[in-house]
Amino acid sequence: MIQNLNSIPAFDIKQQYTTIEAEISAAVLEVLASGRYIGGPLVEGFEQQFAAYIGVSDCVACNSGTDALLLALRACDIGLGDEVITTPFTFIATAEVISTLDATPVFFDIHPTTFNLDIKEVAAAITPKTKAIIPVHLFGQPVDMTTLMDIAKQHNLVVIEDCAQSTGASWFGKKVGSIGHIGCFSFYPTKNLGGCGDGGAIATNDPTIAAKIRMLRDHGQKNRYIHEEIGVNSRLDAIQAAILQIKLGYLDIWNHQRRLVADRYHQILSQVPGIIAPQELAGGMGVWNQYTIRVLNGKRDWLRSQLQERGVNTMVYYPYPLHLQPVYQSLGYKVGQLSESEQASQEVLSLPMFPELSPQQQDQVIDSLKDCLS
Ligand SMILES: *Cc1c(COP(=O)(O)O)cnc(C)c1O
Repeated sequence: MIQNLNSIPAFDIKQQYTTIEAEISAAVLEVLASGRYIGGPLVEGFEQQFAAYIGVSDCVACNSGTDALLLALRACDIGLGDEVITTPFTFIATAEVISTLDATPVFFDIHPTTFNLDIKEVAAAITPKTKAIIPVHLFGQPVDMTTLMDIAKQHNLVVIEDCAQSTGASWFGKKVGSIGHIGCFSFYPTKNLGGCGDGGAIATNDPTIAAKIRMLRDHGQKNRYIHEEIGVNSRLDAIQAAILQIKLGYLDIWNHQRRLVADRYHQILSQVPGIIAPQELAGGMGVWNQYTIRVLNGKRDWLRSQLQERGVNTMVYYPYPLHLQPVYQSLGYKVGQLSESEQASQEVLSLPMFPELSPQQQDQVIDSLKDCLS
């Protein structure tokens, strides 16, 4: 491929780092000099800061977003014989953790305009075995949590929010992750609040659940060397906590910058024929982890390569829905069964989206798209 000097990446984590390099370096060096690399005041400080930001009583940091989901399910005693409803249009981790615990993921279709679980219809998937629902606030767009919490209450279900792509998003003024019983976050570098390595956290207003997760993440011990349950090793490093403390202070600004990019894209792209621009639900304040359009008439892959020739790099999240993955063949889903998710996986294209994307770069994305589709 020809290296285009004006090439625009789909995301750019390095550029963000350079804007806060001095602060990060100083904090990391301080951790190195302290000799406290696991646990300690930095991790506890971050947990408190994050709990306050999300608006919950408790936050427990862990090693990844995947572990956050796993620990949340374990804290709710979900296992063999239990069904957990979730979306097939997400990253594998959401469903993987359900299967890890020998419970069964029950995939329900998405709503075409939000890419999120079709909440208005989701009650149809509830059976006597259903224990929990995992809504995913995909691409940073909040799920209709009002309707979902009503359904969960009626059927006595636990709601575990997958907030991996939506740190800072809110639904009618409440941050996602504070509305369900447990909110699970990822600090993978490309997420809205990304560390310089792996990291995750759970948020909850239930101190009993928080205490249980705190124990499980540290080998099932509350008191040192007294192991009450089989746990895991899933701690957040002090270096990551120090970095995340700094970055959390910038998150609202960065999310606002993403919103400005999304607004600009939307203004123009909602008029371009052949594509559908993403829409927000009234009441939802998304954080645009991705700006994902639909490309109609089977032209997605063609458009992607055309854009790449013009220096515009894009991503496809996700090319295959989970119910049709080889690993889930045994669940017996058929092609066509969850048709909205299947169609979305053929049509989606995520445009360059990061807070530092300049107006010139935005223009290049928009002009290239218009040029290709005219
Ligand atoms: C990234 C992601 C996860 C997993 O987070 P990790 O920190 O990478 O383990 C889970 N769910 C969704 C929707 C994600 O995007």
